[in-house]
Amino acid sequence: MNIAIALVKYTSSPDSLRKTLDLCGGLEKLSPGMKVLIKPNLVGWDDLFPIPPYGVYTTTRLVEDLIIILKERGVENITIGEGSVEIKKGVGTGAAFEGLGYTALAKKYGVELVDFNESKSKSFAFHDTLKLHIAKEAVDTDFFINLPVLKTHGQTKVSLGLKNLKGCLKTASKKLCHHAELELEYCFSFIADFVKPALTIVDGIYALEKGALHYGNAYRKDVIVASTDPLGADLVAAKTIGYEPGDIAHFTHYAKRHDKPLSLSGYEVRGEKLDDHVKPLKWDWAWTDENTGPGIFAKMGVTGPALPKYDDTLCSGCSPLANMSNILVLSAHKGQPLPKVEVLNGKKMQARPDYDKTIMLGNCIIKANKGNPNIKEPVEVTGCPPRMEDVVAALKSAGLDVNELAYMGYAKQQSEKYNGKDGYDPGLYRA
Ligand code: SF4
Repeated sequence: MNIAIALVKYTSSPDSLRKTLDLCGGLEKLSPGMKVLIKPNLVGWDDLFPIPPYGVYTTTRLVEDLIIILKERGVENITIGEGSVEIKKGVGTGAAFEGLGYTALAKKYGVELVDFNESKSKSFAFHDTLKLHIAKEAVDTDFFINLPVLKTHGQTKVSLGLKNLKGCLKTASKKLCHHAELELEYCFSFIADFVKPALTIVDGIYALEKGALHYGNAYRKDVIVASTDPLGADLVAAKTIGYEPGDIAHFTHYAKRHDKPLSLSGYEVRGEKLDDHVKPLKWDWAWTDENTGPGIFAKMGVTGPALPKYDDTLCSGCSPLANMSNILVLSAHKGQPLPKVEVLNGKKMQARPDYDKTIMLGNCIIKANKGNPNIKEPVEVTGCPPRMEDVVAALKSAGLDVNELAYMGYAKQQSEKYNGKDGYDPGLYRA
């Protein structure tokens, strides 16, 4: 028998989700005495300039709908777990729980909140000798419900159910997945083998274009995709934003290991007609032909520095710094050539010749460039990740007259860009 994947238009709460789960038989194997774990996507939290939530975070509305439906079925033992990235030290999962209304949800429904970054872990071997350390609560549960967002991603093209499971890893394992020799998508595709989601619900009330490493653009889409099959849910969700199964490397890795077809054969899409909900969204950011910076560098005529494009070894701790460096270098541009400085990040970039100074952001890239004969004058910014102020100081020390306020202004503008616009409803992110 074909495996069901539900595609439903979101029109009301909690009925749209209820219909989705009925159509895909999502709760057929659930019994009232089970311990249920809900894993939303709460990436990270910025207390100064809050990240606009649309297409970035799972809507609190859909999480609440799910709790209501579980309670109707007599489930009492419900935990919500996440391990958000600490964009700033001490501002992590707890701040996201508070900011997105989860603490209020916990109080209202008696559900438990768990910060996976604080959890004990269990380890699982993959690729012979490597290990993934996964938060204990994500593994020791009877019914794992994965509740990602419909979004694109600058390293993995899409970030849906399989990718959302990365938030169950302990920080060291998250960093390990951004491996210098192994593909990121190969590494994290194993998490589903150990966590074993019983149900995946993709929250497509908003969808995000050019997401994750930078601020993307969110669109109201109003769909929910769900299946008991983790790959099936991702395949349909990806199609709604224009990606075919073979486009996505982590789908390929997972399908191969599980001997599944990389297509919708073997599945049945129920509810809405898939073709009626396809709107392709871009995932990638253009860089200059010489790989010296984002496309805007060419448009603005920025010459001198080089900030090569991030690769998949750049992990979430360092990625805000890479983005910040781009904005800061732009702020130093006054129409004249700037100093010849190269800024490296991640774990495998190699310094190129012809630059007077090479700034290396983070312990990984410093190590990867030890002894590189192309480096005339190294500027090492240590840390894992380094501190923002040290990055600013390094850029200044290399002769770039950067303006921190420009970055603040950019972050503020991004933070407020949907305010008051039609269809962007902050109420969906409150309990
Ligand atoms: S230095 Fe940066 S890229 Fe390297 S592991 Fe730490 S956060 Fe990740």
